Amino acid sequence: MNDRGENGAMEEKPVNLIYLLGAGRSGTTMLATILNNHPNIHTVGEMHQFLDYLLEDKDCSCGENLSLCNFWAPVLNDIDLSLLKNKANVALSNSLEKHHNIPLLLLGKPLNTTYSAMTDMVFKAIHTKVSKPWLLDSSKYISRYLLLRKNKNINLKGIYLVRDVRGVVYSFGKNVQTPKNPLSAIFYYSLVNIWAQLVSLLDRKVIKIRYEDFVNEPELTIQKIEKHLFGKTENISDLNDKTFDIPHIIAGNRLRSQKQLVIKKDVKWKEGISRSKQILYYIAAFPLMAINKYKP
Ligand SMILES: [Zn+2]
Repeated sequence: MNDRGENGAMEEKPVNLIYLLGAGRSGTTMLATILNNHPNIHTVGEMHQFLDYLLEDKDCSCGENLSLCNFWAPVLNDIDLSLLKNKANVALSNSLEKHHNIPLLLLGKPLNTTYSAMTDMVFKAIHTKVSKPWLLDSSKYISRYLLLRKNKNINLKGIYLVRDVRGVVYSFGKNVQTPKNPLSAIFYYSLVNIWAQLVSLLDRKVIKIRYEDFVNEPELTIQKIEKHLFGKTENISDLNDKTFDIPHIIAGNRLRSQKQLVIKKDVKWKEGISRSKQILYYIAAFPLMAINKYKP
């Protein structure tokens, strides 16, 4: 990418970064994997967990420890691990990215310099190892998006992914790493999506995508995303026929234990949840469901 050399003064170009916002179980890992197939986009996973992965040398999605993974090992060589593995810095980063910081960040709370130095270092190191011009971070956390937006070394675009609350509730009820009962799933869903709606309204760099539109009409949806990100679209073949390789990603949902995935329609919850509960969940998340044009 950058042929100015390690110390060239010219290389202080901002890192191009796409960020996925939304609630867990909304299909972000799926969208991130399919976007990785795009010639301009390289998906790196849920980077808000990168420091924890680093500290414990957890597994990349390829199954190797981060320090042994073909993709991540060279990246780690390029970063100052003492800064990133410092327990106080990890705690600072985790605390800044919590939901309760969203209002303050929206009201103009300045960016913490240690936090931004850590973020810059990681993304720059990745950027130099990747030939595609845009990295994709699928962390979902809204506060992290707002922090990245304040960082002048990052050229940021957002994709807010929203899914019918019933698909999310159904997905949380399955055997996942972080199961939630319907009540807490709806509460969490509403909290995250209200903030994400607000950010997508205030910030023209964020495009809102419905997960259902993406799985029903993937080509059209990808074209809409491309137009938002790059101002133009490429010719896309039929995505429904394809299998997609999962790249070397940090965290993500259980899809990552598979090596490949295909696009599937979001219909399981329609049979898995009784009609009366479907209506109840719909009402519980009503304003959001109506805003996003979901039908009861
Ligand atoms: Zn890997």
